[in-house]
Amino acid sequence: MKKVFLVALTIVVILGIGQGLLKLPAVQDVVVERGTAAVAERASVGLSESSSLRVFVCGSASPLGMGQAQACIAVVTPEHFYLIDSGAGSTDNINRMALPTNRLQGLLITHFHSDHISEIYEVNLGSWVSGRPTPLTVFGPTGVDEIVSGVNATYRLDRIYRTGHHGEELLAPELGVLAHETISPGIILEDGELTITAYVSEHLPVEPAVGYRFDYKGRSVVISGDGNVNGDTRQIVDGADLLLHDALSLPIVSTLSKSLGTAGQSRQSKIVSDVIDYHASTDSLIELAEQSNVGMVAFYHLVPVPLNVVLEDVFKRGLPDNFLLAEDLMSFELPIGSDEIVVNRP
Ligand SMILES: [Zn+2]
Ligand SMILES: [Zn+2]
Repeated sequence: MKKVFLVALTIVVILGIGQGLLKLPAVQDVVVERGTAAVAERASVGLSESSSLRVFVCGSASPLGMGQAQACIAVVTPEHFYLIDSGAGSTDNINRMALPTNRLQGLLITHFHSDHISEIYEVNLGSWVSGRPTPLTVFGPTGVDEIVSGVNATYRLDRIYRTGHHGEELLAPELGVLAHETISPGIILEDGELTITAYVSEHLPVEPAVGYRFDYKGRSVVISGDGNVNGDTRQIVDGADLLLHDALSLPIVSTLSKSLGTAGQSRQSKIVSDVIDYHASTDSLIELAEQSNVGMVAFYHLVPVPLNVVLEDVFKRGLPDNFLLAEDLMSFELPIGSDEIVVNRP
């Protein structure tokens, strides 16, 4: 008993001394020096090399999500880097995953709900600072010109300050201005071995809304943006290796709406129940996968993000083995010349 007491006392004393030492400026300086060295080292190493088609989740949440960033998916190959949407919190995840922003080639927007566009400028700024050599193009359906003109106008002064502060050589003014390209359904881009195809997504009253399919050296991924499963979805996912789709848990959302109504929050109850009709339910996605030839389905833009294991289990009810719930910082690796999909969890 005495021995246990002595060990406990020793631990308390050591911890106490440790805490005390951390208050000393000289010790704090060493901690800062070591910490910044580690951060700089990590930044210089960057993303590991791979010949695969890779998909990174930089935002897995919908507006009904806490603790996760809103819609953002990155598609990376050795020669390409495209982002699909840039919701709130996504830029932080892009940095945490050390994605190669200096070679970002385009930002593809699925539609113009705020949870898909709120960090357009942050993405632009981050890649400009990283040394992106050409202006960033924002691709999107009709309306993208209005969005991009607005962002460029809103941040005109920010760009002037940045260039004024760091110099034109480091931050060339023309590289801070976003370009835009209005796309229509069909092939929108052929870039070496990569083909990007847009398809119509059913997200009324949001019109137009699109999703995108990426094909690279025989591997493929479809990213839905928001919307119900429709004929275009069935067509585009056929033969795809990986589908990342907007997903809504009907049992959770309908119960939430009912509970809000019972608690007298009729406005919130109505808004939550309205959401049901324009996101794909988990059941409709299971049916889609049964009818189509798709390798793996990852739910993202989760409505809502499950906050505990019980809600997660409810969200996953009835899911086949090749389904999973995406989360921020998760990634998928699709090696060329195989059917394999490696899932890397954070
Ligand atoms: Zn959304
Ligand atoms: Zn939406």
